[in-house]
Amino acid sequence: MSNKSIIIIGAGVAGLAAGCYAQMNGFDSQIFETHDIPGGLCTAWDRKGYIFDGCIHYLFGSGDGQPFNQVWQELGAVQGRPFINHAEFMRISDGVGPDARTFIAYADPDRLEAHMKELSPADSKLITGFCDGIRQFTQFDMAMLQAKPRSQLSAEEWGQFGLKVMPFALPLAKWGRMSAQEFGDKFQDPLLRRALPNMFGWADIPVMVGMSLLAFMYTHNAGFPVGGSLAFARAIEQRYLSLGGQIHYKAQVEKILVENDRAIGVRLYNDDIHHADYVISAADGRGAIFDMLGGKYVNREIKRTYDGRYRIHSQVQVSLGVNRDLTGTPHSVTYLLDKPLLIAGEERDALWVKHYNFDPSLAPAGKSCIIVMVESNYAYWQRIYGRRLYDTEQLQVADIIIDFLETIYPGIRADVEVKDVATPLSYERYTGNWLGSTCGWLMTTKTMMTMIQGMDKTLPGLGNLYLCGQWVEPGGSVPVVAMSGRNAVQLICAQEGRPFTTQEPRSF
Ligand SMILES: Cc1cc2nc3c(=O)[nH]c(=O)nc-3n(C[C@H](O)[C@H](O)[C@H](O)COP(=O)(O)OP(=O)(O)OC[C@H]3O[C@@H](n4cnc5c(N)ncnc54)[C@H](O)[C@@H]3O)c2cc1C
Repeated sequence: MSNKSIIIIGAGVAGLAAGCYAQMNGFDSQIFETHDIPGGLCTAWDRKGYIFDGCIHYLFGSGDGQPFNQVWQELGAVQGRPFINHAEFMRISDGVGPDARTFIAYADPDRLEAHMKELSPADSKLITGFCDGIRQFTQFDMAMLQAKPRSQLSAEEWGQFGLKVMPFALPLAKWGRMSAQEFGDKFQDPLLRRALPNMFGWADIPVMVGMSLLAFMYTHNAGFPVGGSLAFARAIEQRYLSLGGQIHYKAQVEKILVENDRAIGVRLYNDDIHHADYVISAADGRGAIFDMLGGKYVNREIKRTYDGRYRIHSQVQVSLGVNRDLTGTPHSVTYLLDKPLLIAGEERDALWVKHYNFDPSLAPAGKSCIIVMVESNYAYWQRIYGRRLYDTEQLQVADIIIDFLETIYPGIRADVEVKDVATPLSYERYTGNWLGSTCGWLMTTKTMMTMIQGMDKTLPGLGNLYLCGQWVEPGGSVPVVAMSGRNAVQLICAQEGRPFTTQEPRSF
């Protein structure tokens, strides 16, 4: 009897992971991917020898034996790969010159506590609470939330799950419901007041997310993979191919084929038809539900979600290749601006500047990659797309950033060898993500509970179709979507009535 087959849409990390676990469990799988490379959002691009990384700042699971590490071992992504663990998460300065005050967000909670109290003795109580929370989250195994799809847990397993979560119930409730903005507002010190909401990406992120990041940085479980994000994704692609999977690049799925309310295959844009027993969509959620399936299998909940229930984060990334060695200067600094900068139609009062000299493989010797990411509205760019204005605006944004960098690194303009600007439309074009979203639904205090409870991985009334990836895991992130791909195959194994098994590459 031949193996059952699975078609996977998308070779991002979720799709690649789903493919690997499908192969480990004896299915014949194939992945269809629009682009000509794997990784989706987990990517990097080469411009004249500069590798501009577009994704991983911190990879949860980079530390041996720690939460999320198991999934990377199974996917062959960490074996032999060095990781860089920063002692400082980032610096936040209230200016540029020698008079600027700087807050250093150390990964070590003891060091962080001492430093914050030195900056602001008046905020001691808040600082103790914050650093104690980080210490607590060093013990929290976030990966357990996805070890098994919630729908598969038996009463006994629910009990065990409850026991594991119980010690964290209070910190989760307290820090999961408070946003970085709300926390920052409690501080008396003007630098810390402004720094907190600007530290962890966006102001309405739950403080817990930032604490968990610092906690994992401290335990060396949130490192940067040497070689960057595309090399990391390629390792999973290789693992999938070595397990016997097939990837079709430049193969965009137009429709998911359905017969008697069961998914039976896909039709590509070139009209090729492929059949399978199961279909997993690891692609953009809106595209799968409303375009590939014509919006036929939705309920009120799904409609509300895609009608704007949660926020989406899109951004501009300005990447610069500079003929200057920035080694020895802080790699990640957020500058709080007194005079906001107008970038792509919106005023910005903080700018995050990062260089990648901690990984010499990303730039030619003696040179540096500088990256600045700024939240930016999709609609702004869409309005000017297809006209010369779009290119002009990209150059203008790069120029504004370079002017600002001149104040930090005098003379840097003359050293710029490569300028590259990715807009929300670039993200949409290369990965199909709706509105250029970088992480599906943004992780905010509103989505926190949905993240903990999990979203449905099936659609109402449709059999043999499973969803995985960042659109069913609020907040996304590379380890969470890898677990999501794993969960999709766990669900299929359960439907088939067979046990779910895993292997690590070294075991065969
Ligand atoms: C700037 C940035 C920084 C980030 N930083 C981090 C970080 O530090 N740590 C972290 O863990 N995460 C980070 N993330 C988030 C993380 O990258 C994403 O959440 C994750 O990679 C999403 O993976 P995915 O497989 O669900 O989706 P995607 O990566 O979007 O993959 C979907 C794939 O499906 C393909 N596809 C879409 N439609 C079709 C179709 N019709 N037919 C065929 N193929 C299709 C796409 O081309 C794409 O390859 C960051 C993301 C960005 C953009």
